[in-house]
Amino acid sequence: MTVSIWQAEDAQPLREVDFLVVGAGLVGCAAAYFASQAGREVVITEMRDVALGASSRNAGFMITGLDTYYHHAIERYGIDVVRELWALSRTTHGHLHYFVEHSPIPVRIERCGSLLLAESEEEGRDLEKAARALEADGIDVEYSSKDPLGRGYYAAIRQHQDAAVQPYELVQSIFQQSGAELIANNELYRIEQDEPDCVTLYTRQYVFKAQQVLLCTNAYSPLIDPYFVGKVIPTRAQCLVTAPLPNGPLVNTCGYSDYGYMYYRDTFDGRLLIGGGRKQNKALENDTTDDRITDPVQRVLEAYLREKFPDVTAPIERRWAGIMGFSVDGLPLVGTLPDKPRVGFAVGFHGHGLAMGVGSAERAVDLLLHGTHPGAISAARLG
Ligand SMILES: Cc1cc2nc3c(=O)[nH]c(=O)nc-3n(C[C@H](O)[C@H](O)[C@H](O)COP(=O)(O)OP(=O)(O)OC[C@H]3O[C@@H](n4cnc5c(N)ncnc54)[C@H](O)[C@@H]3O)c2cc1C
Repeated sequence: MTVSIWQAEDAQPLREVDFLVVGAGLVGCAAAYFASQAGREVVITEMRDVALGASSRNAGFMITGLDTYYHHAIERYGIDVVRELWALSRTTHGHLHYFVEHSPIPVRIERCGSLLLAESEEEGRDLEKAARALEADGIDVEYSSKDPLGRGYYAAIRQHQDAAVQPYELVQSIFQQSGAELIANNELYRIEQDEPDCVTLYTRQYVFKAQQVLLCTNAYSPLIDPYFVGKVIPTRAQCLVTAPLPNGPLVNTCGYSDYGYMYYRDTFDGRLLIGGGRKQNKALENDTTDDRITDPVQRVLEAYLREKFPDVTAPIERRWAGIMGFSVDGLPLVGTLPDKPRVGFAVGFHGHGLAMGVGSAERAVDLLLHGTHPGAISAARLG
């Protein structure tokens, strides 16, 4: 995204701001909340409006942990990092439940738990290993070598504490609880740190002079600063939803199969939502900020619906896509821009923003305000 000289001539009114958050998604609204709690006066600038990015296009799964099975995560990142990230995920869910309990507006949420489901015998063996590794670390899960749904799976792990939320309502609620001022329809197009104690930001409506800035622009970050190119990869994800089913909710869980490439849940009005289909279409779905649906992915979703849910005859009523920010190593990125120490960021949630985003936002605010090291999600690991 770029802004032409006709749209903004850099002569916009000047506004001095204490703490500026860029992006009003789940992470930006949570960051605004934490900075306000720390006594800062917060303004959020957003190119669209509250929660119109990935934060309201997702499936609303609050699944604990990363998108990798536990033992695979240990092999990849090491046990200490994995323990820290699972704890960060629990902290995040704690915050989300707090926001829901204290919400000034209704936010629908159901503690229905989640099911990780094996699509093959091999995945079943992997699930068993994941369950043993989780149990060895004292994490309460229930492994079953049978299919709890009777839909052709080979094994399952049930995580009782997980939940399904209405994500748009959740972000609206966090925004309201943040007490921040929102300036919508106001794209950021240039950042300069020309003075040591403040940052100049060019947006369509204002030139801001901010004490501190936090970029919560996830998938769109490479369009804002070259630092993110190759570190955050915009990646499309798609869903479909049926009409309300005649007998109401069908699965009563967050179902997550084929190593997380396919997922489904009931909506609160009894429709079946199915997402995924990226594994078969990676070349098409990776490295794009175009949030239109594509036929090949929608065909995979429909085939899954017909294969796993032959009992569902309700028509498909809506299809959509959103853009996730995949980080190059699968972990969130929190840090400050190398040449702009007053500009922090919390990005790269790899399709698991409801598991990692709010805890990462808290660490990013702590880094900017107090210099607290963000731990394993520090972007310094990428050099
Ligand atoms: C189809 C789909 C299903 C998913 N399912 C799940 C799930 O079930 N569970 C889960 O945990 N995660 C899921 N995710 C991922 C989850 O949605 C994200 O991790 C999360 O929403 C990230 O939040 P965010 O605030 O960082 O990003 P976003 O919600 O994308 O917010 C970024 C904001 O920055 C704004 N912005 C960008 N550039 C600029 C600019 N230059 N100036 C001003 N504003 C700007 C954007 O407009 C946007 O509002 C899914 C994602 C998709 C697309």
